[in-house]
Amino acid sequence: IQTKFPTMGTTIFTVMSALAAEKNAVNLGQGFPDFDCDPKLVDGVTEAMRKGLNQYPPMPGVPVLREAIAAKVETLYGRKYDPASEITVTAGATQAIITAILAIVKPGDEVIVLEPCYDSYVPNIELAGGKVVRVPLVPHSFRPDFAKIAAALSPRTRAILVNSPHNPSATVWTREEMLQLQDLLAPTDVFVISDEVYEHMVFDGQQHQSAARFPGLAARSLIVSSFGKTYHVTGWKIGYVAAPAALTAEFRKVHQFNVFTVNTPMQYGLASYMASPEPYLQLPAFYQRKRDLFREGLARTRFELLPSQGSYFQCVDISKVSDLGEADFCKWLTSEIGVAAIPLSAFYGDGFDQRVVRFCFAKKDETLQTALDRLAKL
Ligand code: PMP
Ligand code: GLN
Repeated sequence: IQTKFPTMGTTIFTVMSALAAEKNAVNLGQGFPDFDCDPKLVDGVTEAMRKGLNQYPPMPGVPVLREAIAAKVETLYGRKYDPASEITVTAGATQAIITAILAIVKPGDEVIVLEPCYDSYVPNIELAGGKVVRVPLVPHSFRPDFAKIAAALSPRTRAILVNSPHNPSATVWTREEMLQLQDLLAPTDVFVISDEVYEHMVFDGQQHQSAARFPGLAARSLIVSSFGKTYHVTGWKIGYVAAPAALTAEFRKVHQFNVFTVNTPMQYGLASYMASPEPYLQLPAFYQRKRDLFREGLARTRFELLPSQGSYFQCVDISKVSDLGEADFCKWLTSEIGVAAIPLSAFYGDGFDQRVVRFCFAKKDETLQTALDRLAKL
């Protein structure tokens, strides 16, 4: 057939997970927990199903869940979103992001992405007919370079995608960086798609700087989160978007026709589970311990450890371990050492290779230990 997307390949996560399965490797590539969620969450969903809550919910999501989300956002970030007109439940962050882009980007509009960036952003912008404007984060430190972002802004800029805590680099934007973004955008009409799926995984006492905390950003932002990350249920594919009413109205115009709505029992299950803040309040300590365990083991190898301030990722520089490029190294590591990782080059449009790869530490301690035993040879 005549393909519409001749250059679009298969996402790196699918490729590396398939290779990991084929080689029987420990899969620290694709980001997902290998442990189960809290059984109470499953009980809530089962209860909703048994109660017969099995038909279409309202298009933006069930009111109790939208209320629970609004209450959480207000408690944590001090901004009140109206559950009726400013919160929409989505089929994961992936659908939230593509829907946001389709809703605001017109053909020919420029959209800024900060590379390395999550691998769905660029194809999403292209699907909307937008022009991708790539701005690199500083190599190795992965901090935003505001001079470069300022230089990329033009009268045609429609939106910028930001992501903190950051996949793949595990950096977390500071309050000062968010303020700089707010100041930079103040004289513009640029929208922000703020991908905050790792909002509850921030370490070492640092705070997540949601766009919701900054009035000048919140007014122009579609904030995206994912229950998959927060509650260890990546397979449920459920998340949400918080945005001012006018932006939410645009978002829902697309949402109603690309998914219409999201499965009902899981929304009720999540709503009752959210009554307690404990699960997400305990998440930083839970993942920080795993991060530290993993880093201690890696420190005994010749990998150079990069900081991991948030998310469930740990990046390492491979220069002292191998002469291979990132992608070949990941294939070799999976096949020969039995541990899968993700090359950072997969998060750059031009395949930029800085000899850094990403591991996911959202794994049982014994899985991390098995991986570390294998990596100890390096
Ligand atoms: N954005 C980022 C930065 C992610 O890491 C992920 C998960 N891989 C997503 C979006 C998609 O989240 P979901 O699984 O909820 O669609
Ligand atoms: N977000 C996960 C990661 O970055 C995986 C998402 C996916 O498989 N599409 O690894």
